[in-house]
Amino acid sequence: MSQNRFKNMETAVIHTGYDSQQHSGSLTPPIYQTSTFTFETAEQGENRFAGNEDGYIYSRLGNPTVKVLEERIAALEEGERGLAFGSGMAAVSAILLALTKSGDHIICTQGLYGCTFGLLQMMKNKYKISHDFSVMDTEESIEKYITPETTCIYVETPINPTMKLIDLEMVVKIAKKHNLQVVVDNTFCSPYLQKPLTLGCDFVIHSATKYICGHGDVVAGLAVGRKEIMDEISMTTQKDIGGIISPFDAWLLIRGMKTLPIRMDRHSENTEKIAELLKTHPIIEEIFYPGDKTNPQFAIMEKQMKKPGGMISFTIKGEKREAQKLMNQLRLIKIAVSLGDAETLIEHPATMTHAVIPEDSRKEMGITDTMLRLSIGLEAWEDIWEDLKQALDSI
Ligand SMILES: *Cc1c(COP(=O)(O)O)cnc(C)c1O
Repeated sequence: MSQNRFKNMETAVIHTGYDSQQHSGSLTPPIYQTSTFTFETAEQGENRFAGNEDGYIYSRLGNPTVKVLEERIAALEEGERGLAFGSGMAAVSAILLALTKSGDHIICTQGLYGCTFGLLQMMKNKYKISHDFSVMDTEESIEKYITPETTCIYVETPINPTMKLIDLEMVVKIAKKHNLQVVVDNTFCSPYLQKPLTLGCDFVIHSATKYICGHGDVVAGLAVGRKEIMDEISMTTQKDIGGIISPFDAWLLIRGMKTLPIRMDRHSENTEKIAELLKTHPIIEEIFYPGDKTNPQFAIMEKQMKKPGGMISFTIKGEKREAQKLMNQLRLIKIAVSLGDAETLIEHPATMTHAVIPEDSRKEMGITDTMLRLSIGLEAWEDIWEDLKQALDSI
């Protein structure tokens, strides 16, 4: 029996959207590594193109392996339809281009993934789709930017790398009042920690490259939303711009997602331990972590997230030189951007992920030269801490 919705996420990540009995009993979904699909007759081809008959045509328009992934992410986010893309940015651009036309206006969080920031600049310069950045800490801070041309509010929470949280309930309240769509980049949380659609948001986007994959071996994106709009995206931005995922990468994501809840629990547990220990080290100036009970935003974390997650940033006493020395001193922890992998990763936002942002804006966002961002992995926390401690001690 094929069942598409399961109450518990631990089961849904393993079973949703796949019935082994329809695939020769293959326990895991086969990889349909094919570009095109044969029709039995010319009339069948005609009917498929006309939309009168279900079935596959060509892999840019749909593929059975990709479909399992799309159904699974839709179930996990509790949305109507999911779509898979060749990268997180392909998902971001598909949604933003679908929701706007020339002359429209977008309100986004201050602090965005660098390439989303770049995409918005391009949309403004080439297509006259403008945007404003809001700190989104009060209703007023959002409302003051709303114009008759505003169509959507684009939110990242937690914001990278400062880990600032946006109260999604508050954003939805404003959006409903003004009839705006709310789009949430849920990459840092994964659906296991945060489900924006259940809070009234309209679209969720993932860089599936990160926690959804979890193993650092795929670049991919996912988006979920209401069926009528996702249908339209699949037939326009996805089909005609074409940033689709390969069947093999979809299969790797299906495989990775089976352990998402287990991994997120371990990422969160490890990070909680490391945050506690980091706080005790004299070289640490400040830590940025949604699980910090002294953080005024802790209440937002408790309200909309299941757990604080696996990301933590911190600043050290000293200067850029010391921050880089600390990184060079690490042995187990790898210096790399990206996040959500089994390996603990460290990066220096000011010279890496956020280097394109002008220094003034960067400082305004709280990204100093001594800030480091950690993606805590799945290793024993004792080993992660041992490595961090020897590096911190060396400064
Ligand atoms: C990585 C990332 C993206 C972009 O995803 P890609 O898979 O690299 O294209 C978008 N948003 C956030 C928050 C990310 O971390």
